[in-house]
Amino acid sequence: MTAPSSKRLTRTRAEMERAGIDALIVGPSADLRYLTGYDAPLLERPTMLVLPVGGEPVLVVPELERPRAEDSGAGDVVRIVTWNETDDPYARVRTAVGADHATLAVGERMWATFLLALQDVYPAAVFSRASRILNALRIRKDATELDALRSAAAAADGVATGLAGERVSGRTEREVARWISDALITRGCEQVGFAIVASGPNSASPHHEPGDRVIERGDALVCDFGGTIDGYSSDITRTFCVGEPPDGFADAYAVLAKAQDAAVSAVAPGVPAEDVDAAARKVIDAAGYGDAFIHRTGHGIGLDVHEEPYIVAGNAEPLAAGMTFSVEPGIYLRDRYGMRLEDIVAVTDDGVERLNAAPRNPVVLT
Ligand code: ZN
Ligand code: ZN
Repeated sequence: MTAPSSKRLTRTRAEMERAGIDALIVGPSADLRYLTGYDAPLLERPTMLVLPVGGEPVLVVPELERPRAEDSGAGDVVRIVTWNETDDPYARVRTAVGADHATLAVGERMWATFLLALQDVYPAAVFSRASRILNALRIRKDATELDALRSAAAAADGVATGLAGERVSGRTEREVARWISDALITRGCEQVGFAIVASGPNSASPHHEPGDRVIERGDALVCDFGGTIDGYSSDITRTFCVGEPPDGFADAYAVLAKAQDAAVSAVAPGVPAEDVDAAARKVIDAAGYGDAFIHRTGHGIGLDVHEEPYIVAGNAEPLAAGMTFSVEPGIYLRDRYGMRLEDIVAVTDDGVERLNAAPRNPVVLT
């Protein structure tokens, strides 16, 4: 793994100055990986990047994690400082931050136990969210990040297309989820993020956990999965029919596909994020399925599977080139079946690029 260039730290400091933040402190998270290249394990032993607005950036790590931190290349952009088992890690953090800083921005994915300890060290400090600083950077992907997202999407496409050739009836949801996970790794993902396989009535639950239900002919089958390449995630959903589709399925699916097309077509620089949600919702509402579309249309994707920008009513943030997010309308008919169609898109200088290319028409499985 190579560390990102120190440009990200420079830009972060410019944002900190603008926001009046004295120091930024982030633990193991996508924020840490974004800034240093270090994909740190989230453990009870604190690991913290300390970035003072003016001073030297320091990565405080447990001594036993030093080899891993050094292998990440983080040492190219920050100084690595370690603590031994009987040391006080917060003394290291305090040295790096300085004694008298008043405004500290901390990563939201930091465990409460670490934040509470920092609050003990700095009882008079004002704590705020690191996302105030980092979202402005992370929300727009550079060329390297876009390439990683394209590779991750291509791996997911390959799995979706391969799944269309699999016999699924007679297998459990869990077995098919395992097949998907293995296929993601075979196609080059370093990690499987998730694999939702929801069959029959279970498909009406958007985040169904794959279980022991045996997939039968006549089922709708929602498969939603993703894995990472160079840390960047894919996230695709395809809905299949196992044998003959259930009653009304084909009509509802035509509405869903039209809604997704409308939403993708609405994507362009300057368009408020909520307009993309509205474009999908308008089609689904008009067809009478409005109450069955029970979630937002999409979420940003990058080092985190869910990040800014959220494609939801109320988010008026204008889209800009380099933003990447899912477009995933769904229709869920309780006790019957559900369906979702999800692709990742990138905002370009003059419109939109679809990152996923797997067939979007409903495929009949055996
Ligand atoms: Zn998904
Ligand atoms: Zn998604």
